[in-house]
Amino acid sequence: MIKVAINGYGTIGKRVADAVSAQKDMEIIGVSKTKPSAEALIAVQRGYPIYIADMGKKDAFAKAGIPVAGSVEDMLKKADIVVDGTPGGVGESNKALYEKAGVKAIWQGGEDHEVAGFSFNAHANYKDAIGRQFVRVVSCNTTGLCRVIKAMDDAFGVVKVRAVMVRRGADPHVVKKGPIDAVVLDPPTIPSHHGPDVNTVLPHIDIVTMAMIVPTTQMHMHAITIELKKEVSRDDVLAVMRSHNRIGLVQPKTAIKSTAELKEYVMDMGRPRSDLWENGIFEASVNMVGRELFFFQAIHQEADVVIENVDAIRAMMGIVTDPETSIRMTNEAMQFTAL
Ligand code: NAD
Repeated sequence: MIKVAINGYGTIGKRVADAVSAQKDMEIIGVSKTKPSAEALIAVQRGYPIYIADMGKKDAFAKAGIPVAGSVEDMLKKADIVVDGTPGGVGESNKALYEKAGVKAIWQGGEDHEVAGFSFNAHANYKDAIGRQFVRVVSCNTTGLCRVIKAMDDAFGVVKVRAVMVRRGADPHVVKKGPIDAVVLDPPTIPSHHGPDVNTVLPHIDIVTMAMIVPTTQMHMHAITIELKKEVSRDDVLAVMRSHNRIGLVQPKTAIKSTAELKEYVMDMGRPRSDLWENGIFEASVNMVGRELFFFQAIHQEADVVIENVDAIRAMMGIVTDPETSIRMTNEAMQFTAL
């Protein structure tokens, strides 16, 4: 069993913890919290040993009835690998801790590529992550872009990608972030950072991205144009999308045409936390004009990177060397069913 620690049990960390627990070949040996909270109480319910970043807060945890197993350093001693789920920028400051403990570490997309020197997407570069000590799983938007661009590139060849990202303002539980009533260009300059971030995984892709933030919490929406090298039909493209195990086609018969309806649908499917782990490509939007492919895809910011973290763990531990085997193991353990 691969022993996994989660440093930073928040939006991403708690989901990765549950996804790891669902796998047959890995287990959670501990999660870290900075202060007693609703999430810490759930971690107790789930049976995850809780370690704390600041031992000075031990009494506050005891007062809340949360048993403390030790410090983050204690947790790292027990782990083969740590998934850093701390807020963007904080993760980098933990690097010295991981180096000192001699533990493998995975950072999230809020950190720069340089923190690990390797950016990961299971379908794109799993094999290059085998045996590595440090890996960064790219952000939710970059993950969604990499999956579909890689699939189109493998099948038909990609000349160039132009994409507009309409980003959620905040995660649903976040009460202090906006916008409440504005469309914010983020950034007002072009390109946004997403294209260069895709290039950390797929360096040969010609991609330009633009991004804005809108007052919603549900998901991001991408409007994507990909110029393909081959003349292909809409059906050819749909066949590739349909056969991809991390792309879901939102079927026209559902009449879903928004992130809100898609989120509700996924919740009704019984997915934990109503998580959409795959890209939600709206089948009705998929269209070819000459060699240009157009479509909309919804990306559930809290979910798509979770399963990528699980595959990154397997690759770095070097136990499963075939990407498709790991991806299948991960998906099956999550009881992933098609949209
Ligand atoms: P979050 O704020 O929901 O959770 C972070 C957790 O880390 C909190 O529980 C916080 O208490 C804890 N923490 C803070 N400082 C710590 C420290 N020094 N040691 C241990 N724990 C500490 O953040 P998040 O949204 O889960 O983001 C985590 C990372 O994942 C970031 O890099 C972010 O960019 C990336 N990411 C987030 C999303 C998303 O939509 N939320 C999507 C993809 C990637």
